[in-house]
Amino acid sequence: MNAPVKPAAFGAATAVATPQAAPIIRFEQVGKTYPGRRGQAAVTALRDIDLTVPRGGVVGVIGRSGAGKSTLIRLVNGLERATAGRLLIEDEDVTGLDESGWRARRRRTGMIFQHFNLLSSRTVADNVALPLEIAGAKAEEIRRRVTELLALVGLDDKAGRYPAELSGGQKQRVGIARALATRPSILLCDEATSALDPETTGQILALLRKVNRELGLTILLITHEMQVIKEIADQVAVIEGGTIVEQGGAFDVLTRPQHPTTARFLESVTGVTLPDYLAHRLQAAPSPCSSAVVRVTFTGGNATAPVISRLGSTIGVDVNILAGRIDAIADRPFGQLLIGVPSEEPTVSAVLGALRSLELDAEVLGHVA
Ligand code: ADP
Repeated sequence: MNAPVKPAAFGAATAVATPQAAPIIRFEQVGKTYPGRRGQAAVTALRDIDLTVPRGGVVGVIGRSGAGKSTLIRLVNGLERATAGRLLIEDEDVTGLDESGWRARRRRTGMIFQHFNLLSSRTVADNVALPLEIAGAKAEEIRRRVTELLALVGLDDKAGRYPAELSGGQKQRVGIARALATRPSILLCDEATSALDPETTGQILALLRKVNRELGLTILLITHEMQVIKEIADQVAVIEGGTIVEQGGAFDVLTRPQHPTTARFLESVTGVTLPDYLAHRLQAAPSPCSSAVVRVTFTGGNATAPVISRLGSTIGVDVNILAGRIDAIADRPFGQLLIGVPSEEPTVSAVLGALRSLELDAEVLGHVA
């Protein structure tokens, strides 16, 4: 059994896992090929997967439909078996584990699903109780634990309701309570917010973050939405065609994507776009009296630098703010600002120099007359 760690105080330094933290799940060159059925060719769903999930971390795997995400997560609870490489979970090599070994393992691994997978004929309390009944817990212990879990997920008043009487967000809260019933060390999330509206998604991700921090639970999630990664993950792996094309700390990958697939996933989530009325007029070369459009990227400590006033006071240029946004990624600020400054030299070079001296990324996108 996994003893819960002391809850972290709000706002205090919390035990967010670093890549150096001891791994709880390790994929080593893992591959998975599904055999061809009825004359069809075999399908290699995963190839050469190297992925480490640190204990207490939140690791997100993002990819399009068919990329191999479900296969990857199903390997971790033994619903699929690897056909190449090694998979280690809590220092146990599970690659060749038999079914009874997997039954024991699954008690330490909770899972939540896109469509919640609740039993419609059971009440909320009885859904949450199910894994405890299967584990052979005593009635009194089950009652106590279910009460505690429903309080944790904010559903104390819904114990006697049936799934059909709940909203999507409430159903997923039941799913989370049920997944935590046997005090697992790992929670697997299979597109857990994909069926929810954005506001409910935010609430469920906040609840997952809370159980990660307060219970020290490790979370491995799969998603096709970068917003989910941005809101909750410490680390991210981008998967395409069965291989990981990019991985690293969520902040680094989201602010400096290296692979085009990552950049595409990011388009809707970070970064600002030029308003249409300016985008149409953007030209590569300056013209008399044009303005240079400069994209300034703020990361980490510089996200709140007083850039505009510094440009005014140090090099005496007038700056137009065209668009901007500041976000938090893995709890660190990240922002982008589009500004307009006079296109002529040496003004543009002076502006870029001043911005870079503040350790900000600055790039001229073009010029508008
Ligand atoms: P994702 O979750 O990213 O949509 P999947 O892991 O479901 O991706 O699928 C990856 C690839 O493996 C796809 O080409 C899919 O058709 C194939 N696949 C998944 N499950 C099976 C299976 N049981 N038998 C054969 N092929 C499968």
